[in-house]
Amino acid sequence: MATQQKVHKNILVISGDGIGPEVTRWGREVLQAIAQKYEHDFHFEEGLMGHVAIEATGNPLPDETLQKAQQSDAILFGAIGHPKYDQDPHLPVRPEQGLLRIRKELGLYANLRPIKLFDELLAASSIRPEVLQGADILFFRELTGDVYFGEKKKAEDGSWASDLMIYHRYEVERIARKAFEAARKRRRKLCSVDKANVLESSRLWRAVVQRLSADYPDVECTHMFVDNAAMQLIRDPRQFDVIVTANLFGDILTDEASQIAGSMGMLASASIGDGTGLYEPIHGSAPDIAGKGIANPLASILSVALMLQIGFGLQEEADAVIRAVDQTLKAGYRTLDIADKHTPNHMIVGTDAMGQQVIQRL
Ligand code: NAD
Repeated sequence: MATQQKVHKNILVISGDGIGPEVTRWGREVLQAIAQKYEHDFHFEEGLMGHVAIEATGNPLPDETLQKAQQSDAILFGAIGHPKYDQDPHLPVRPEQGLLRIRKELGLYANLRPIKLFDELLAASSIRPEVLQGADILFFRELTGDVYFGEKKKAEDGSWASDLMIYHRYEVERIARKAFEAARKRRRKLCSVDKANVLESSRLWRAVVQRLSADYPDVECTHMFVDNAAMQLIRDPRQFDVIVTANLFGDILTDEASQIAGSMGMLASASIGDGTGLYEPIHGSAPDIAGKGIANPLASILSVALMLQIGFGLQEEADAVIRAVDQTLKAGYRTLDIADKHTPNHMIVGTDAMGQQVIQRL
């Protein structure tokens, strides 16, 4: 089956908390199946992060995990989070600190989220099928700047608080370049989303993107205000190809866009910089369903497709994974989150049975 050169890759698996280990197991199994089928050599290591790491070591990102991450070619990540911390926002040591730190240490400044609906799931979305059919969007959300990392202040007496929204030219430039390059390989349309009518940082953002567009004359570059973009995404998602936007706007718009794909359990993402990338489902640790064996593993499996494509340049292998997912859905297999009550021939299966169906089709 091997059609190209055998590749050797070191992959760090960080399963994390809640449903993380349940779904990541199937991401890893898919990587193993791909390695076997295409005669690649994937070597796996495991690392702790999140609540499990705090419990074991007191640190949400132990040094050992960080070292393994730095030495790996790619990271397959599940999810972190535990109700204990959600119920007490003042706990000083928290699972999400591990994720923020690994992003920072590895310089993961671009978060890519492909939003594409499998035809089989048209009915699972809350949006009308005729609006959705054919929508295929690739988001580039900036990940290491904006109000999340700007200076934070609050008055001693609690009467005011502020978060600084700040962008540097180089931060905009590096993610915009990645977005232009990606648009070149797709339908050659890039929409940059900002709030340049009001925000100084957005005016800088727009000026940088406009200047860069001269280097990509083959890509049609447009600009849209974020409030309009929020509306257009639902009104006519097919108008978009690649969207590039800042951290805060991207956080909100990508969750909104997840509805285009039907369920959180279907969406994968890649966080990349100039070295090792991290590939993960967009969902969290889902404590409400953890341990029940009903979580949808497809977002983890589709994250593996992103790893193969973006991280390792193995397009054929990535396509094989997506095809196997598509065929599994076509055969009628559904986890609860994507089940359509009105289609009687659906087979509702748990996490493991769903994973096995995909492996079988590989
Ligand atoms: P969540 O994504 O964990 O769950 C939201 C809803 O979607 C839940 O009803 C859940 O059951 C469902 N869901 C999520 N993934 C699913 C899957 N694969 N299959 C079926 N259903 C699925 O978000 P939340 O409930 O807001 O957060 C839970 C915890 O996860 C919190 O501690 C939060 O901090 C953490 N979190 C972590 C990440 C991450 O690790 N990247 C992202 C978001 C939230």
